[in-house]
Amino acid sequence: MIIIDIETCTGCEKCLKVCPVDALEMEDGVAKLIEELCISCSACVTACPVDAIEPELKAQRADFSEYNGVWVFAEQHEGKLKATGPQLLGKGRELADELGEELCAVLLGHDVKGLADELGSYGAEKVYVVEDKSLKGYTTEAYTTALTTLISRYKPSVFIYGATHLGRDLAPSVAGHVGLGLTADCTGLSIKEIEGQKVLLQTRPAFGGNVMADIVCPNTRPQMATVRPHVMEPMEPEPGRDYELIEEKVKIDPDSISTEILEVLEAEDKGVLPVEEADRIVSGGRGVGNCQEDFELLRELAEELDAAVGCSRPIVEEDIMPKCHQVGQSGKTVSPDLYIVCGVSGAVQHRVGIRGAKRIIAINKNSDAPIFDMADLGIVGDLREIIPLLVERLRKKKSE
Ligand SMILES: Cc1cc2nc3c(=O)[nH]c(=O)nc-3n(C[C@H](O)[C@H](O)[C@H](O)COP(=O)(O)OP(=O)(O)OC[C@H]3O[C@@H](n4cnc5c(N)ncnc54)[C@H](O)[C@@H]3O)c2cc1C
Repeated sequence: MIIIDIETCTGCEKCLKVCPVDALEMEDGVAKLIEELCISCSACVTACPVDAIEPELKAQRADFSEYNGVWVFAEQHEGKLKATGPQLLGKGRELADELGEELCAVLLGHDVKGLADELGSYGAEKVYVVEDKSLKGYTTEAYTTALTTLISRYKPSVFIYGATHLGRDLAPSVAGHVGLGLTADCTGLSIKEIEGQKVLLQTRPAFGGNVMADIVCPNTRPQMATVRPHVMEPMEPEPGRDYELIEEKVKIDPDSISTEILEVLEAEDKGVLPVEEADRIVSGGRGVGNCQEDFELLRELAEELDAAVGCSRPIVEEDIMPKCHQVGQSGKTVSPDLYIVCGVSGAVQHRVGIRGAKRIIAINKNSDAPIFDMADLGIVGDLREIIPLLVERLRKKKSE
């Protein structure tokens, strides 16, 4: 909700033009709020040239009986679903079952309705689709308006997003506009009963990964969180599974969008398998070396295994590899079947990113390196001797 200072309002009507739900009208030459229509998106607050409108921020431990449904934001890029949607639907199913609520996916874009079947196959009971030209490429304003409008219309109790580049921008923007809390980068979600209320328990690393913090938002709805890619497992897809498609129209004022997409550039290292999507990763740290050439050794091993190449943070800081390869707390969370980690000491900030790896093989010349504490197989020795032997063995095996 917002508050209008009628003494300051000049009656310029700019707020009326940007309101996506027509919740403002003119009365006696000043703006007036139609409370039942307001979705608290704050578009009018930003548009007012004389600061006559302010958001009314108050915690509402209100009656949440109207709020129902676990929603998952299904991110798509150029008409292809990102992996986070199905992954979050997998966890969303558990949460919805515990709450006794429905599981829904939300899809935004232009000409994307065809992806709804896939979301249905991953367990969504309802798929809300908003198609609009202004949603073709991502802009914070257009996507925020679409989601705040849907939240106001349908009142979900939980809304989760992937902590992708897009999700990390969108979720806080939605939370800010609707006056909600948001827990970023969760590694666990569950339902807990607190004071007779079933709430979303949002777990994430805190204090540099040394403790896991459980966070709840008991006073606002929906309870919102972002979850790192690959932390949750998708359900086995069931093509043809029944679901309800709900097509929604949302008024998005082109003038409210402050960015224009001029060109979409390909990601760094195009053609290289991203670590967060890889089944196998060969990862290197400071022990591998301090220049590009030193890492050739690692790339050779990765090539023999069809693996992606990962690294620790110092390797990015020293410009040896782009940031998209970094694994760990401030990099990517990975969950490959096999993680071969070479010349990485195993600081907690690295280890927190590889908890989901099914099998870890560590190579380090220091037998006390902490990485061995979580390795399934540890090889103590010089990686410059061990990796060439592994490459040779793999090549020999392939030629047999
Ligand atoms: C807020 C914050 C966020 C961070 N985020 C991340 C993150 O996302 N990811 C991350 O990785 N780090 C992160 N860090 C940094 C982290 O604390 C460590 O400094 C870093 O992981 C160490 O990198 P490393 O293991 O490559 O180097 P080192 O700690 O220097 O370890 C090098 C290892 O190589 C071994 N070695 C050396 N030579 C050889 C050889 N010839 N053969 C075999 N082994 C050899 C050594 O025994 C040693 O164990 C973060 C730090 C902070 C404070």
